[in-house]
Amino acid sequence: MNRSILHVDCNNFFASVECVYDPSLGSVPCAVAGSKEDRHGIILAKNELAKKAGVKTGEAIWQAQQKCPGLITVPPHFDRYNKFSKLFKGICFEYTDLLESFGIDECWLDVTGNRKSAAVIANEIRERVKNEYGLTVSVGVSFNKIFAKLGSDLKKPDAVTFITEENFREKIWGLPAEDMLGVGRRTLGCLHSHGIYTIGELAEVSPAALRSWLGKSGPMLWKFANGLDDSRVMRFDERIPPKSVSSGYTPYRDLQCENDVRILIYALSENIAAQLRRHGLCCRTVSINIRDRELNHVCRQIRTAFPLSDSSRIAEEALGLFRKEYSGNTDIRSLTVCASDLEPFSEDIQLDLCGEVFRSERRDSLNKAVDGIRKRYGYGSVFRGLLMQDVRLGMFDPKEIGDAHPVGMRA
Ligand SMILES: [Mg+2]
Repeated sequence: MNRSILHVDCNNFFASVECVYDPSLGSVPCAVAGSKEDRHGIILAKNELAKKAGVKTGEAIWQAQQKCPGLITVPPHFDRYNKFSKLFKGICFEYTDLLESFGIDECWLDVTGNRKSAAVIANEIRERVKNEYGLTVSVGVSFNKIFAKLGSDLKKPDAVTFITEENFREKIWGLPAEDMLGVGRRTLGCLHSHGIYTIGELAEVSPAALRSWLGKSGPMLWKFANGLDDSRVMRFDERIPPKSVSSGYTPYRDLQCENDVRILIYALSENIAAQLRRHGLCCRTVSINIRDRELNHVCRQIRTAFPLSDSSRIAEEALGLFRKEYSGNTDIRSLTVCASDLEPFSEDIQLDLCGEVFRSERRDSLNKAVDGIRKRYGYGSVFRGLLMQDVRLGMFDPKEIGDAHPVGMRA
């Protein structure tokens, strides 16, 4: 039987939530951005009018204002975004518990076999989120997750798009390959070098050729493009062990010295370590992704001497990678730390490291205590003294660096 899968995506989520609190923002070009006083603050999100004027996420406020002189900027309120995320997913949850979140403002639902048809459910969700919470969503309805997600991008805001067995070639195949989940920057470069630009062109290459160019993700992308994705929508409370865990952040202002970088790397690593411990995992590879003020990307990784699950150790590895690439006086726009090559946490391995034994045990019990406090009182209830420095430096609010994002294809 064909499945009925919905992908629900809030339109311009951050900016739309700000409009709920201040409706006057709806009629002007508006962006959520780092501190207003500092003209080097960064654009984090924008509304439709700002988008039309060419404003882009990730650029500096002064650049955005050159393109769009009337641009109004507001500071981010992550507590509001988390609240509205829960609210709109709460509506979705009334239809099924097969609800898989994809970031703060998107989720998939599997409504196969539901009493109501997928079309009725999609429209009810769209209407209800708008009427009850003042946000518009776009919904893609299809027989697999990949096409449902593509569908939700096709028409927005406030729309439902159906991608069926009959119409997917016409609706999907003309889209650029990079619109499809799983086609990242590197994959795209490879596809372009073989003259493949659209999802349809990707669908028509042989899976064997794709495997030789891209490894095992090649045939997977071929399946996606041909409507053969059979991955399931997970239950709302299901956790599969991630293949890697990463945490990245674009601070309110560029990082200007090594101390700035150190503080952010510690905040990100802390977040990663908490996630690793939640899954009972540790990592053997640490990598760092750096974007500087000229928007150049640098990505570096290191295989660690032994498995890590402690934030200080992950942070020190990441900081070492940073120091190899940059001196302390380069302006850094954003940073991502990633832990991969994950394996089950084993105390034996840690105890084998003579000399490190007691420290390791003490750290483990400290980490456990911190995890317990956070579980009870929230992530922001306790953080490192080092991060308190930043309350003065004003780069970010440690509470905003909420959950790390597990990465990896779900089966
Ligand atoms: Mg969205």
